[in-house]
Amino acid sequence: MLSTPISTIPKIRDALRATFRSGLARPYSLARMAQNERELICDALHKDLGKPKTEAVKSAEQLPEWAKTEYPDVPDWQKSWKPTLYKAPRGTVLIISPWNYPMILSFQPLIGAIAAGCTAALKPSELVPTFSQLLAEIVPKYLDPNAYQVVNGAVPEISKLLELQWDHIFYTGNGKVARIIASAAAKHLTPLTLELGGKSPVIIDSTYDIDIAAKRILWGKCNNAGQICVAPDYVLVQRDKQDELVKAFQKHYKAFFPEGALDSPLFGSIVSDSHHKRLTSLLSRTKGEIVLQGRADAARRRLEPSIVKNVADGDSLLEEELFGPILPIVPVDSLKQAIDFVNSRSHPLVLYAFSDNDSVKQQLVSETQSGGIVFNDTFQQLSVNELPFAGVGESGYGYQVMKHTYDTFTQLRSSIDMPKEAEPHLASRYPPHSEEAVKVLTAAVYMPIQPNRL
Ligand code: NAD
Repeated sequence: MLSTPISTIPKIRDALRATFRSGLARPYSLARMAQNERELICDALHKDLGKPKTEAVKSAEQLPEWAKTEYPDVPDWQKSWKPTLYKAPRGTVLIISPWNYPMILSFQPLIGAIAAGCTAALKPSELVPTFSQLLAEIVPKYLDPNAYQVVNGAVPEISKLLELQWDHIFYTGNGKVARIIASAAAKHLTPLTLELGGKSPVIIDSTYDIDIAAKRILWGKCNNAGQICVAPDYVLVQRDKQDELVKAFQKHYKAFFPEGALDSPLFGSIVSDSHHKRLTSLLSRTKGEIVLQGRADAARRRLEPSIVKNVADGDSLLEEELFGPILPIVPVDSLKQAIDFVNSRSHPLVLYAFSDNDSVKQQLVSETQSGGIVFNDTFQQLSVNELPFAGVGESGYGYQVMKHTYDTFTQLRSSIDMPKEAEPHLASRYPPHSEEAVKVLTAAVYMPIQPNRL
């Protein structure tokens, strides 16, 4: 991967800003372009950038609707003021994406920024250098380099980017770096979206079918070798169901990977040597009982799934987001204990729960906090484009996916346009005030009060 020369980074930002100010990236022209060139855009995104066609099609189709100026319903006496909500692009934005799912996590925000009419710098992760280099090569073929630029590099380059003022920063990654990003953004009062991770727990209600739960949890955990922000991180199960759950995991693992996952092309590798080492070290320090021992091949960064039972508070596997194919099981004595366990930790990105009982579901909704809550499956929620994706607390803030990404990069710009003819109705707001006007004005919450009450 070729890093972007640091000295050029401020010039890149200035060029993006100049393009934004020129109006070339404004949403109306983009909405028109999306309408007129819909098929071409969708084909390009699908063929060259691997964007799921359905999402690209939907974005293009719905953009004119999202970008529409709104006229909120107001009381009759305010109607002549023409209260209006313009959808204004935030400006020149910075998008910082991580290594896992680099394409979706780079393009989802970029498409939202383009749709909103922003110009953007995209900083992909240095941990996927081949992809990041490819991005730097192909993006200028499809997008105007004056409006959209890929900036490559690592900490020095990103530090330079963060010195500059942006109109919005959209960061996806871990909470530690998020704090660096947030401090840099604070210097310029830059609005921020933080799409972070954390430990997403799974609670299994004692009455739920353990076999189905195990199959669905293991499938979610095996995706990208557990290197997904929404991967089930650990499982809370009724103590007397733990062994049944272990057996079900072992059975389904055998069914998914009859020869094991070590050499399976259907099972991903660990992204870097340091992450491989981190995961094997976490596993070697657990005080739990390893009931599925995954083989490791450090040279090829391969690591098979491992399942560990009887994991207790304070264990190495409960220290940090695992982000790999290790699944600890924490036995509990009641649903209340499971809820307390979850609530004693940072708010997760997702809370998974397996239950057929509506009152248990309701209890989980009302007694816990998490970015999302998913019942009776894992990972599949990401296929529902209509649902916003976001964390809460330690798992981040700000929304994304389709219209929600568009909204993130859009400012709702409020406006009124006061007609000259309103002057007689406004007369009593001007000093000197009559006694009656003073009474009404001092009682009003806002200064520009209802003229017909004066
Ligand atoms: P990463 O190491 O690729 O870092 C993400 C970005 O931060 C990169 O572009 C990188 O260049 C930049 N960065 C790294 N160190 C930096 C520093 N010191 N200063 C400034 N910038 C720096 O990816 P990661 O953070 O390891 O990604 C995994 C994390 O992301 C997990 O916690 C995962 O849960 C989370 N994640 C969240 C979502 C979501 O949508 N909520 C999606 C994917 C991943």
